[in-house]
Amino acid sequence: MNDAYAVYPGSFDPVTYGHLDLIKRALSIFDGVTVAIAKNIGKKPLFTLSERLGMMQQATRSMKRVKVEPFDGLVVDYVRRKKAKVVIRGLRMISDFEYEFQMALTNRKLDRRVETIFLMPSENYAYLSSRLIKEAAALGARVSDFVPPFVERRLKEKLRRK
Ligand code: ADP
Repeated sequence: MNDAYAVYPGSFDPVTYGHLDLIKRALSIFDGVTVAIAKNIGKKPLFTLSERLGMMQQATRSMKRVKVEPFDGLVVDYVRRKKAKVVIRGLRMISDFEYEFQMALTNRKLDRRVETIFLMPSENYAYLSSRLIKEAAALGARVSDFVPPFVERRLKEKLRRK
């Protein structure tokens, strides 16, 4: 990989149209995007790592320049191993800003060659988060405007079994 590739890290629990919107925007700038799915996330995920990987793979199947991989540990170490330089993150609301700002500057401290580039989603997805989708689906809401149909089915199955 080189400068023309970007890494998009996150938990993707599960993938939403907001994530996919961001991946498409990144593809219009970079030659390729590697979606890096965090193995360990602070909060207990609803979906296992392999489920999160599988759903992201399925959702990006038609996007030829996208790779999906698991990662563990520091984002900057992963980016360095991939010989990439750019991390993509999304900015929705002002509320994202503080956390993302801290993380971008911490990552820069850890490795000053790694740059974080923020992209903004379509306004349709500006308030959408995986957490909100899980909460809404658990209460029986239809989430078909926000996640691909197969993700909506997986959410229903998962929440039935909980
Ligand atoms: P994390 O748990 O690391 O925040 P997520 O999987 O929730 O991971 O999100 C990964 C990245 O995608 C984050 O930068 C987040 O801000 C961004 N993101 C999530 N949902 C959206 C959305 N609807 N629009 C734009 N960016 C988003």
